[in-house]
Amino acid sequence: MKNTSLQRSRLFAQMAFFVLFAVTPVFDLFRYDLVAGHAWFLTYEWRIGLDDFLAGRSTPLEAGGRVLLMVFVPLLAAAALVIGVAWKWGRLYCGWLCPHFSVVETINRLMLRATGKHSLWDRHRVAPWEPDGSPAVRDARYWLLVVPAAIAFAFVWAVVFLTYLMPPFQVYADLFSLRLSRNETLFIIAATTVISAEFLFARHLFCRYACAVGMFQSIAWMGNRKAMVVGFDRERIGSCADCVGGRTSACDAVCPMRLKPRNVKRWMFACTQCGQCVSACATVNRDNPQGPLLQWVSGEAAKQNEAGFNAATLHRLRQMDAAEGNESRERQ
Ligand code: SF4
Ligand code: SF4
Repeated sequence: MKNTSLQRSRLFAQMAFFVLFAVTPVFDLFRYDLVAGHAWFLTYEWRIGLDDFLAGRSTPLEAGGRVLLMVFVPLLAAAALVIGVAWKWGRLYCGWLCPHFSVVETINRLMLRATGKHSLWDRHRVAPWEPDGSPAVRDARYWLLVVPAAIAFAFVWAVVFLTYLMPPFQVYADLFSLRLSRNETLFIIAATTVISAEFLFARHLFCRYACAVGMFQSIAWMGNRKAMVVGFDRERIGSCADCVGGRTSACDAVCPMRLKPRNVKRWMFACTQCGQCVSACATVNRDNPQGPLLQWVSGEAAKQNEAGFNAATLHRLRQMDAAEGNESRERQ
């Protein structure tokens, strides 16, 4: 797949999943209704079935069996699916579907234009060049979009969260007629405030250090040495000195998780397999008959990619980091 179509496909997948995330409660695909006191799953009422036990119509054993069947089995099945995918391909869910990561990337892009940094916590500015060598937009007026975009996303998230707990048609009717109840209003204001702060100040840090779904995927991925990984053609490391005309390392510049994609796997724990580094390197090397230096590899090639990362490679990468004024590549 070409680098542009790869990122276009990913954007399409992210947008489709974001829509699914928003409409899931509307169509009773999955939600817990606090008013009705039961969940919905694929348009069916989903009850644990403890009512009969509480009314004395079933034994504790029967009640335990229902909890196991209705709660633990579905949860374990969902976890097994996500972990199984991560074991083989890494955090694909994060990079290709997760509605939080879509926001991370959108706010990163706007912030990069406003400040030259993906995040307020980055120490150094990213050199103002796109992977194709054209000048990158840097304009402080983008702050006028950064903050409203974060608040707008947070508001949408707050309303959608509420529809996972309250009847969705009631929530939207109340919202559009400006007749939200006191509790609905408080929930939306509190959630919008907290989520806005997270989107503005801690969005990729949440993905790296706080998200349990991401953590478990990373742990599963780390456990499989043959799992798909961004591989680096170390033999050609000298070519990186000329990346984007010697102005910057395009792969480091684009990573939304602020990783250094040429690193060894153990320093790439939070990689979301978004492929932005792979696409950037393909763009940089679009006229190079040898092709890009970064490509996804799996199986034996993934093991060799890890094993071949030696002191000489690290030394050369550190030299390049120092020349670009970047911070230590171990500190990620
Ligand atoms: S290292 Fe590459 S694939 Fe991983 S998160 Fe960064 S840009 Fe995406
Ligand atoms: S791996 Fe590719 S994108 Fe990264 S610095 Fe080297 S040439 Fe540039």
